[in-house]
Amino acid sequence: MNHPNYPAILEEIHRDIAPWRTAGRVADYIPELARVPAERFGMAIVTLDGSVYSVGDAYERFSIQSISKLFACTLAFQLLGDALWERVGREPSGTAFNSLVQLETERGKPRNPFINAGALVVTDVLCRRFVGAETALVQFVRRLTGAADLDYDLRVAQSELAHAERNRAMAHFIASFGNLEMPADAVIDAYCRQCAIEMNCVELATAALFLANGGVAPVSGERVLDASSAKRLSALMLTCGTYDAAGDFVYRVGLPAKSGVGGGIVAVLPGEMAVCVWSPGLDANGNSLAGVKSLEWLTTRTGQSIF
Ligand code: GLU
Repeated sequence: MNHPNYPAILEEIHRDIAPWRTAGRVADYIPELARVPAERFGMAIVTLDGSVYSVGDAYERFSIQSISKLFACTLAFQLLGDALWERVGREPSGTAFNSLVQLETERGKPRNPFINAGALVVTDVLCRRFVGAETALVQFVRRLTGAADLDYDLRVAQSELAHAERNRAMAHFIASFGNLEMPADAVIDAYCRQCAIEMNCVELATAALFLANGGVAPVSGERVLDASSAKRLSALMLTCGTYDAAGDFVYRVGLPAKSGVGGGIVAVLPGEMAVCVWSPGLDANGNSLAGVKSLEWLTTRTGQSIF
């Protein structure tokens, strides 16, 4: 395969991003996340032919937070197929990731699986199927990456659990419409644990590679999704994966992506590669400020995007 000069472009981005690294605000509504140094920055590209290119803190693990929604949704989609969409929608929400407002008028059916409300329904699907939903997810990302020591950080999970009033409210509200099958508190517990999974940029890019590869994970050879389902999940990332800024993100970056309030963003270029960037300072929408900028520079400087 003929790749762009990824090492040189990553080095340039690493150099140019320096002034932006501390421009964002580290998430502090989960106290454990506030302890992460704002100036951290890592970026990794993993290509379908197995090459890994990285700069900065690309091998330092961080809290994947909402990026776990991508893996959880993949497992739920595997289990239920299109029946999943009877319980969760496929439209951008136009509201914050943790907003409750649409749930009342839309009778407990969240807009999409990548906002908190939708992710709670997805986690409910996993809790119904697996004794430990978070364990199933941890095992899944271990298979996708080949990293047997991946796990969630109990302190981060407990820190979120102790401050989860809004997500609790959401889960109980959804339950009141009959859209949770398991007890709301069990779903919240599994949700906070899955959000606390720790991975580094190389691992996250590797884990997302199945979406760039027609649904087959290159590391394990596992067929995660059929090609059509992989297309559909990538399409959902494009329209809903970066909170209420998905339109602006796609305009600037042009790749399907999922972000998390830990400062990570993972994106895929079908047929070519997956990329992950990490910088904990967030913009007003909850996306990594330097992360979005770096991905914008990557697709502009390589001339590669889905468009
Ligand atoms: N655990 C976080 C929450 O539910 C995830 C948010 C995110 O990364 O968007 O608030």
